[in-house]
Amino acid sequence: MQMGPLTPEDLQRRMQEWMRQWPGMGLGARPAAAEPAGEGADPAEEPKAAAFQFDYRPKEVKAHLDRFVIRQEEAKRVLSVALCDHYHQVRLALAGQEQAQYAKQNILLIGPTGVGKTYLIRSLADLIGVPFVKADATKFSETGYVGGDVEDLVRDLLRRADGDVTRAQHGIIYIDEIDKIAAAAGMTGRDVSGRGVQINLLKLMEETEVPSRAPNDLAGQLQAMMEMTQRGGRRPPATINTRHILFVVSGAFDGLEALVRRRLREAVVGFAARGPASLTSEQVLGQARTRDFIEYGFEPEFIGRLPVRVYCHPLTTDDLFQILQSSEGSIIRQYEQTFGAYGIEVLFQEEGLRRIAERAAGEQTGARGLMTVCERVFRDFKFELPSTGIRRFSVTRELVDEPERALPALLASQQVQEQQLARQVVEEFADRFERSHGLRLAFTPAAIERLIARADEQGVSVRDLCAERFRDYQFGLRLIARNTGQQRFEVDADAVERPDRVLSDWVVASYRQPGASPAAPGPPPAAGDAPESTD
Ligand code: ADP
Repeated sequence: MQMGPLTPEDLQRRMQEWMRQWPGMGLGARPAAAEPAGEGADPAEEPKAAAFQFDYRPKEVKAHLDRFVIRQEEAKRVLSVALCDHYHQVRLALAGQEQAQYAKQNILLIGPTGVGKTYLIRSLADLIGVPFVKADATKFSETGYVGGDVEDLVRDLLRRADGDVTRAQHGIIYIDEIDKIAAAAGMTGRDVSGRGVQINLLKLMEETEVPSRAPNDLAGQLQAMMEMTQRGGRRPPATINTRHILFVVSGAFDGLEALVRRRLREAVVGFAARGPASLTSEQVLGQARTRDFIEYGFEPEFIGRLPVRVYCHPLTTDDLFQILQSSEGSIIRQYEQTFGAYGIEVLFQEEGLRRIAERAAGEQTGARGLMTVCERVFRDFKFELPSTGIRRFSVTRELVDEPERALPALLASQQVQEQQLARQVVEEFADRFERSHGLRLAFTPAAIERLIARADEQGVSVRDLCAERFRDYQFGLRLIARNTGQQRFEVDADAVERPDRVLSDWVVASYRQPGASPAAPGPPPAAGDAPESTD
C-alpha cells in the first residue's frame, strides 16, 4: 500500500476496506475494535457484582466534598444525592436488579470558571474510586476527523481504568465548555457542527457500545488484527458500554441569564409583582428551565438527558481566603511541600493569605487566580532560596505585595548570618595561627568582607582562602616581631588583596622603626618552625 500521498481519510478508508476481508473482525456497520490498551487486562471477563462496592449516603459524600471544596453548598448537596442515586443503581444493575425505567442522573453544572466545578466532580470520582476524564466540548467535531471523536472520551476512560472495561463502564466523563456547542445562531458562533456533536454525545449519554480501539487508530487496529489472528479469531472485539457511565457537562453559559430574565419579565407583564429586575444572577440562573436551554441552542433530547442541573457561585475574596486556609487541596500545601523538599520551612501568616486572596480576586478567574498570584509571588523565591542557607521564612502582606523587595531583604538577612559564620571561620584561622606561631592576626571587618567576597568569586571556602593568602606570613611576621617586638598585626582589605606586597612592606618598615635590630635582615626561618624557636 502506497502511504505517501494519501490523506488520513483515504488511508483509513482503504484500511477499513482491507480489514473487512478478515472474518470475525466486526467491521460491518461499526468500526472494529479489539482489546483495551491496558496491559494484562482481560476484557472478555464478565463484569462482576463484587467488583463494585458502593454504600455511601449523601451526607457522607457531602462531608467528603466539604473537606476540599469551599462554599458551593447547594451544588454539593445536589451532587451528593445524584451520585448516590447513580451508583446505587449501578450496584443494583450489577446484581441483576436494575429498574428498567431508571433515568440516569447526568449532571449539568453552570458557573463561571475556577469556582470548583471540576474539583467537585474529581473529588467525587476520587471518593468512590472510579476513573474520571475531562475534556472541552470545543475539541470535538462532528466527523471526528478534525479535533476528536466524542467516543475517544470513553476510550480515555478505559485508559484511566488501566484497561479494565468493567471499571471504565462505571466511570465519570466530564465535558467542559458545553455552552460552546449550543447551536443557536448568533449565540456562540458555532452552529451546524455544534448540533452534530450534541447528537454524538447524546448517543453516548443514552447507551452505546464504544469500540476500545478507535477506527482511525491504524496501529491499534493492526495490532488488534494480529492478536485476533493469533487466537484464531475466537475472541470478540472489546467494547465499552456507556449505560452506566455518568456524564457531567458544564459551562459558563454567557447570555443564558439575559434569556431567562426576558422570559421571567414576559411572565410578569401586567402584574405589579416584583419583577425579575430585582433578582440576582444566581437567582435568575436558578430558574433556568429546559425551554431556556433549548432556546439557548441545545437539542431538546440532549438537554433532556441532563436532569440534574446545578449552579456554582462566583467566589468572593473571603471564599478565596477560606480556600487557602482550610481546603485540604489548598495550594499553600503545595508550596509548603515544594520548599520543604529543600529543607525550607514556609510560614503563611494570615495577613499574607488575605492579601493573596485579594490579589487573586482581581484576576477574575476564581480560585485559579490563587495559583496565578502564588506563582508570581514565589517564582524567584523558588529559584533563589534552595541555594542559600535560609531555612525558614514567613509570608507576610508585604512579601505578597512586593516580593521583589522581600526577597533581597531575606537574602540580606541571610548574608548577615553568613557573615557571622564567615567571621567565626576567620577568627578560628587567626586562633590557629596564633597557636602555631605565637602571633596574632587581627582581621578588620573590611578584610573579612573582602575574604568572603573573594571566596564566593573563586568558589572556595573562606578557610582555604585564608590558608592560601597568608601561607607565608609567619616568616615575615617573626622577623618583624624580632625587630620590633610586635605581636599583633592588623590585617586589612589591602592585605587580603596583595598579601605578599603588604607583608614585605611591613618587614621593610620594621627595620626602620626605632628599636629595630640594627642587623640586616637575615634569611627567613625555616618553614614549620615552632614560634618559640625563632627567638
Ligand atoms: P472550574 O469551575 O473552572 O471547573 P476548577 O474546579 O478546575 O474550576 O478549579 C480550579 C482549582 O481551583 C481547583 O483545582 C481547586 O484547587 C481550586 N478551587 C476552585 N474552586 C474551589 C472551591 N470552591 N474550593 C476549594 N478549591 C477550589
